Amino acid sequence: MSQAPPLPTAGGKPKKPASQRIPIIAEPFVSERARKTLDIVEKFVEEECIPADPIYAQQLGHGDERWESHPFIIDELKKRARELGIWNMFLPKNHYSNLAEYDSSGGAGGFTNLEYGLMAELLGRSRTASEATNCAAPDTGNMEVIARYGTHEQKAKWLRPLLNGDIRSGFLMTEPDKASSDGRNISLSIKQEGDSLILNGSKWWSSGAGDDRCKIFIVMGKDANVREGEAGYGRQSMVLVPADTPGLVVHRMLSVYGYDDAPHGHGHITFANVRVPASNLLLGHGRGNEIMQGRLGPGRIHHAMRSIGAAEVAVEWLIARLNDERKIPFGKPLREHGVLLEWVARSRLEIDAARLIVLNASIKIDSSDAKGALVEIAEAKILVPQMALDVIDRAVQAHGAMGVCQDTPLASSWAHIRTLRIADGPDEVHLNQLGRRETRARAQECIGRIEEWKARTADLMKKYGIEEKQLGGSKVQGFAKAKL
Ligand SMILES: Cc1cc2nc3c(=O)[nH]c(=O)nc-3n(C[C@H](O)[C@H](O)[C@H](O)COP(=O)(O)OP(=O)(O)OC[C@H]3O[C@@H](n4cnc5c(N)ncnc54)[C@H](O)[C@@H]3O)c2cc1C
Repeated sequence: MSQAPPLPTAGGKPKKPASQRIPIIAEPFVSERARKTLDIVEKFVEEECIPADPIYAQQLGHGDERWESHPFIIDELKKRARELGIWNMFLPKNHYSNLAEYDSSGGAGGFTNLEYGLMAELLGRSRTASEATNCAAPDTGNMEVIARYGTHEQKAKWLRPLLNGDIRSGFLMTEPDKASSDGRNISLSIKQEGDSLILNGSKWWSSGAGDDRCKIFIVMGKDANVREGEAGYGRQSMVLVPADTPGLVVHRMLSVYGYDDAPHGHGHITFANVRVPASNLLLGHGRGNEIMQGRLGPGRIHHAMRSIGAAEVAVEWLIARLNDERKIPFGKPLREHGVLLEWVARSRLEIDAARLIVLNASIKIDSSDAKGALVEIAEAKILVPQMALDVIDRAVQAHGAMGVCQDTPLASSWAHIRTLRIADGPDEVHLNQLGRRETRARAQECIGRIEEWKARTADLMKKYGIEEKQLGGSKVQGFAKAKL
């Protein structure tokens, strides 16, 4: 991998490369190899992917042709990314060592979650960059699942072409008739008959199902072979289902605020007696929710960092608009209207604060695992999309009507990040869990602490001869006995 030359400057002070802009809190955890890769990724994204984004949209075409093939510029970008050695960077350090036999791509994985998180922020600046480097969802999570839980045969058949970028994949959990944020509700039926598994039911929001390169689905369903687990978490299984299996029909594509997301798409799929070999089961009967938990932790960090990248791009558009000399409302440029300067300041503050939350979660995953970082991951998952939406919305507003149309990336960026408040678990699920955990874990501590203050205040009152009524209501009030 060669050293990246400095970024070009469009006048003014040269921008420092990404390796020199790592937040100081993360500095000690970033290897020399990751720093070099960061700079190469940044240069690739800025010089090759962002300029290619509008070409990608143009090559998609119109009408049905949008689903018939993918824009060929993505193949050129993929080739280029491989030449630069920036490929599969998402594959984490701890799972990478035993994958060499399946990875003929010369992949550049093996980074920590923190290191890849910094790269994901750069990838999030462009529509094409994640796919160009084989780091796009849902393939990343699916590759991790097969890498971690798959058998040798499953890896040889599906992981190899996925790592190589030859095929794409889908992850099918959500169902139209069930509240699917609760994995226990998933009810597509999986029955074993001899050496086969038979699947019946329906799925929607199956991202990637529209793509002609999408060849394999990881499907979650209710497994007739297992008895109900104690909390209902042991009934679901996951199965690998080739996209061309008879009985599997993609009926329609769902839109996201009017965007169809072609050629990727979000499919509504039915399964009518879909038969696959029993050896396509992942990990074991009834282990679907376990796989689900393993899949989502690092993926949420990737989404969060990509959203931070998108928020940074929005700020760049905002600043450019504030300094557009052609647009002078009410006699002065927007930069001289104070309220808009406040938007820039707030955006800077909110992005930098959110980034620290995500980097902290990444460091925690790296120092234990995703289970050990549940609170920090939930914090990042909740906070970042909301922050990014606020930042993007300010940039939209500053552009007036131009902000809501296709002439900037802002409208599409807002629509897609809005879905992150629902996908991978709605905000409220995480807020509930976080609130419950915090409230239960700290109840004794908080009550005890306040009782202690109260007792000390009572001692001080005695010492200084103060009567209760003299405190004017400022004395710490007591509690009814807490019910924990
Ligand atoms: C763009 C996009 C892409 C997606 N891609 C995929 C994909 O590839 N594969 C896939 O399987 N799914 C995918 N999804 C679906 C997504 O994961 C689900 O929509 C999500 O898990 C929520 O499930 P649901 O829609 O059934 O909502 P429900 O479970 O019905 O929840 C509806 C609402 O109820 C509230 N709620 C739920 N639980 C609680 C709680 N505990 N406390 C308080 N309120 C609560 C929340 O406000 C929630 O938004 C995608 C969704 C979108 C928008």
